[in-house]
Amino acid sequence: MRKPMMAANWKMNKTSEEALQFARDFLRMSPPVSEVDVVIFPPFTAIYPLSRALDKTGVHLGAQNMYYETCGAFTGEISGGMLAAEGVTYVIIGHSERRHILGESDAVIAKKIQAALESGLTPVLCVGETLQEREAGDAAAVVVRQLKAALWGLGGDLPLVVAYEPVWAIGTGKTASDADAQEMAALIRNELASITTAAERTRILYGGSVKPDNVAMFLQARDIDGALVGGASLDPHAFYRLSMAAKSQASI
Ligand code: PEP
Repeated sequence: MRKPMMAANWKMNKTSEEALQFARDFLRMSPPVSEVDVVIFPPFTAIYPLSRALDKTGVHLGAQNMYYETCGAFTGEISGGMLAAEGVTYVIIGHSERRHILGESDAVIAKKIQAALESGLTPVLCVGETLQEREAGDAAAVVVRQLKAALWGLGGDLPLVVAYEPVWAIGTGKTASDADAQEMAALIRNELASITTAAERTRILYGGSVKPDNVAMFLQARDIDGALVGGASLDPHAFYRLSMAAKSQASI
């Protein structure tokens, strides 16, 4: 049985004071932290204050990115070790905005995955096709390529979360159908089985315009274990409803 995960990717939103206000409002509602791994990925500037606010609450802290070196002359970068020291346990690697806006390659993503694991962080590896790739019938091939490239050279019992996020669904209000999302999640799990002994235990999330009103259809899918949520996670009430939806699914 895989524990569901509900992940809030705040992207470049919220000052540290706004993040603390979110934490106060969200915690007041008693989120279902025993049944669901609830994770917040704030911007770097809010990690330190949130690590204090979320301490011993059961809500996990994540980072949206990291660099693959451990220290040194890399202006503007942050290492996995620095994040772990602040109580971060998960890190998003290969988000489509980093691939497509910031030009991150499969090779860089592979180095980041390796470095995250070496720092004791659990990577949340994002994979997903563009609209052009889907329309050309290449969605499966693209996702398999991204997965293999990111996990190249790794094996054994990998602590890993994979998020299937079709690029055309992120922040657009369009979602994959539940059948397409399940098909891609099953493909990912099948591919993971040739890489890691933990494939059956690996959580696979769906991401792309998930809202409280549509999350249930993804959570019902056999190989989908939660969601990575951008826009809707900025509101504590919406993120609470999303976390509760994951709890209901866990108990079925
Ligand atoms: C994301 O940031 O990974 C995401 C899926 O965003 P949104 O929920 O806004 O589509």
